[in-house]
Amino acid sequence: MKVCNYCDELRPEVRPSPFMADGAANMCKDCWEVTRESHKDTEMDIGEFKDYPHEMYNKFLVLKWDDILNVLEGSDEFEQLEGIIRRVMELRKFGGRDPEPSYYVVNKDEPYADKVLELIQKEEEKK
Ligand SMILES: [Zn+2]
Repeated sequence: MKVCNYCDELRPEVRPSPFMADGAANMCKDCWEVTRESHKDTEMDIGEFKDYPHEMYNKFLVLKWDDILNVLEGSDEFEQLEGIIRRVMELRKFGGRDPEPSYYVVNKDEPYADKVLELIQKEEEKK
């Protein structure tokens, strides 16, 4: 069971929000259907709940440290980035969550990427 961030109820199945602005929010099937109905016949059609997510593109921001360091070289923005990271860690800790969670990341260019996605979707279905 997981919390739907739209109706705040515990639901057996939720999906990442179809809306980029809602970041890591989850949506249950009921909220999905209501949302889908209100966007019906527009270019904002969010598709079938069961088919989602095709990709979990909204949930994480993944950047290579090499790229970040190249961009920030010689600027004082690195301290700002450190500040953001520190605040995220404090917020997570305050919420009783692991302040430094770790993840496996797969580059979609890799030939095995589809297999990894398939495995994740299969395992997520069981939750
Ligand atoms: Zn809901």
